[in-house]
Amino acid sequence: MRFQSPRGMVDILPEDQPYWRHVTKASEKLARSFGYERLDPVLIEDTGLFLRSIGEGTDIHDKEMYVVGVLGKAEEKMGDLALRPEFTAGVMRAYLEHGLSSRPTPLRLYSLGHVFRHEAPQLGRYRQISQFNCEAIGSLDPALDLEIMLIAWRFFEDNGMKDLAFQVNSTGCPQCRPRYVEALRAYFAPHAPKLNLDDRRRLEVNPLRVLDSKAEDTQALLADAPQMGDYLCEECAAHFAALKGYLDALGRPYSINPRLVRGLDYYTKTVFEVWGKEGLGAQNALCGGGRYDGLIELLGGPPTPSVGFAAGIDRLVLSMKALDVPVEPLPGPQVLVAYLGADAKLSALQLLNDLREAGLRATATFGDRGLKAQFRFADRAGVPYTLVLGSDEVAQGVVSARDMAASSQTQVPRADIVAWLAERLTG
Ligand code: AMP
Repeated sequence: MRFQSPRGMVDILPEDQPYWRHVTKASEKLARSFGYERLDPVLIEDTGLFLRSIGEGTDIHDKEMYVVGVLGKAEEKMGDLALRPEFTAGVMRAYLEHGLSSRPTPLRLYSLGHVFRHEAPQLGRYRQISQFNCEAIGSLDPALDLEIMLIAWRFFEDNGMKDLAFQVNSTGCPQCRPRYVEALRAYFAPHAPKLNLDDRRRLEVNPLRVLDSKAEDTQALLADAPQMGDYLCEECAAHFAALKGYLDALGRPYSINPRLVRGLDYYTKTVFEVWGKEGLGAQNALCGGGRYDGLIELLGGPPTPSVGFAAGIDRLVLSMKALDVPVEPLPGPQVLVAYLGADAKLSALQLLNDLREAGLRATATFGDRGLKAQFRFADRAGVPYTLVLGSDEVAQGVVSARDMAASSQTQVPRADIVAWLAERLTG
């Protein structure tokens, strides 16, 4: 029996690591430069936390959550815990649990790590997903919406994506949205027979979700549907106008997309996406975010506005490869210690240890391979130097140092070899 990784979950092999390192390093630097601190919420939470915060009528809530149990503990109530399908709920839970609300506001937090969703896998759509997530908590100022949008933008820009553009919308608040939802339902009511089952259900459970329906019939009807922009209350309209003013002032290209929505009550005001051309030429949503002024209250905290976004790293890495975005290679070994015979092996182990303790990246083949095979290994590893220890070298207290590029060999006293090599490798 040979095992495979679970469907939709992808191993990251050594050759892909430079991309991942590039993205995580760039994300951390970016987040810090905007004054964000890292918070890693736990990977598994009470299922109820996710169910409550993500909300009925969304795919994640209804069918994508990985619920976990404990092997051999049948008495433990199954379904108590779930793998996190996103970061926001866990970050807000930690915010409340650890009293972070007493810290100066806005509290700016970022996270990096895996989330899990039981989606139908395809290229670029996985079940184990890596995300970069930012949250700004405790302020209603639209300048903070702008800040979150700018981080999302820079995240893609700093990782080599070009031709970026924002799509923005305001989805109002619990004061103004019900009037809009009513208008939307009234508009669709006479057309209900034309809608597919999913959209009919959405109209009942989560009407705003009809706006991002992929069904052609629904899309055709949406052209004349009422738009949230015409229903915003004074506060939401002013907030949206200010955000647009800031975007204009910074000269960032954006389009207002009246179909951009989040279906849940605690989402308020701003929603946005960053669009890019990616590798294949078509415009695509790279990431999304928005404001959720009702979320912390929904989780049992005091009313606390917040705004944030999550960006997927897996898709970004695919695009970076398609676009040949240059990334720094990760440092490989600098020196291989080769040896012949049991006595020389002991000396080689000592030498290897001395090199590593001196901070040099040193490797060896081990086993009883011939010198030729050890040199082949050194070539494959790309080391600039190979150090050879045979019985002659051990007897004379020297090491033969081979410069791999020049194919030249010199003998260096064993006592001097670490300094000799360090000078050549770091000098
Ligand atoms: P969301 O949390 O659904 O707003 O997703 C945020 C970002 O995570 C998306 O823009 C994608 O880049 C990424 N993402 C979401 N779901 C997947 C998935 N199944 N596979 C790969 N990336 C995903």
